[in-house]
Amino acid sequence: MVIILSKPMVRLILFITAVVCVGMSCLGWYFQSHRTQGSLSRLTLLIDPGHGGVDGGTQDSYGNLEKNINLAIGLKVREQLKASGLQIVMTREKDTDLAPFRSGQRGRHRRDLMARIEKARSNHCLFLVSIHCDASVETKRRGAFVFYNYLSSESKELALAIQEELNVLQQRPFKAAPGKYLIIREPGVTGVLIEVGFLSNPEEAALLQQEEYQSKLALAISRGILHYCRRFVTQK
Ligand SMILES: [Zn+2]
Repeated sequence: MVIILSKPMVRLILFITAVVCVGMSCLGWYFQSHRTQGSLSRLTLLIDPGHGGVDGGTQDSYGNLEKNINLAIGLKVREQLKASGLQIVMTREKDTDLAPFRSGQRGRHRRDLMARIEKARSNHCLFLVSIHCDASVETKRRGAFVFYNYLSSESKELALAIQEELNVLQQRPFKAAPGKYLIIREPGVTGVLIEVGFLSNPEEAALLQQEEYQSKLALAISRGILHYCRRFVTQK
């Protein structure tokens, strides 16, 4: 039996087929994204805006302090990652340090760093990301670098993922490097330290004051973190 369809009929069938196909692919995307969000929501990370309170960190030639840039970027990273379903713990959400000065007690800086690491431990964080700005006597030096604990393959993998995204913003790419910072070498806590740029470079220091550039850096960091986390989730 041969059914001869009129032109409007053919158009109607094609239209219905297209609607069904688009609907099904939307449903697929919806469940896919919800499944990913579901598994990401089981992961808790620590975002550590470096310095704070009495400790301003380094500064640019105008006296703009590192601690404020670190916090601005850290808070943006938190918002971006929370939107992806991840659980985020912050070491600080305002201009404060984690180890107040105590008369007669030395080692405030070390106590402050250990308190940050302890926050990652007590909250069972999968890893910590410490955000800093760099400075150098060579004022031409610029760029964002990620440092990892060379004893930890997870730390290196995370650093590579973040560096790859940061390199999209840079005039020339850099390699993630092993670093000896206390915050990333504590056993049992996976960590990376990001130097988002050099405050000793006038051009980069000016960029780091701009909210738009801070958002771009934050987005690159968040993308790198998500890239690493998604791999982790699918491997589980
Ligand atoms: Zn710093």
